[in-house]
Amino acid sequence: MKPTKEKILLVEDEQDIRHALQYNLKREGYEVVCASDGKAALALFNKAKPDFVVLDIMLPHVDGLEVLRQIRRENSTPVLILTAKAKEMDRILGLRLGADDYMVKPFSVGELLARIQGILRRASVVSDGAVNGALSIGSMQVDWARYDVTVSGEPAQLTPKEFALLKLLIEAKGKVLSRDHILESVWGHDKQSQLDTRTVDQHIARLRRKLKSERERIMTVATAGYKFLSSPARS
Ligand code: CA
Repeated sequence: MKPTKEKILLVEDEQDIRHALQYNLKREGYEVVCASDGKAALALFNKAKPDFVVLDIMLPHVDGLEVLRQIRRENSTPVLILTAKAKEMDRILGLRLGADDYMVKPFSVGELLARIQGILRRASVVSDGAVNGALSIGSMQVDWARYDVTVSGEPAQLTPKEFALLKLLIEAKGKVLSRDHILESVWGHDKQSQLDTRTVDQHIARLRRKLKSERERIMTVATAGYKFLSSPARS
């Protein structure tokens, strides 16, 4: 069965960029819906239910970070951020809000398409590897197929990256994973992206917070990396 191409919500107020990206995304076979301000983006997100969002930060009415914040309240839809400010807080803040990647303007369309494909591929690896259904670890329920994690019945609301990270840790079955290995596996680390292993530590910290009472299953192994304990961390 050939999967249909994903629907992408493109949010960009600069008309030239929007038109160029829309054209190129459509040519790649994606379905594309567009918004030119933050308010319209949120309305369209709820209506069109896209599989992926390309989101400019500097937008009229409601800025991109607020759009991301609102999307993340209830959705783990992958979001790639576009920013004009390479060195500023926006992108860091954006990542902490749960963006999956970012690109600094000006960027090549080819690179943008590659990043989108990479994120979607990793997201689908996560859900395709999920044939074995739900998993129960302590008070944590993990449903690979539904992309869903609950702790004591409460949704953990993981972003796709956090979900991929948890999956990687669980599937390692207690083996220690190095930060480099995690970065490579979850982020598909390339030299152009300025992510380093601190990104892994930040995501681990966030994942632990979201896992609440089960947080200690993710163990830091000094100088080596992280491992996941399927049995309780403390006796
Ligand atoms: Ca803009």
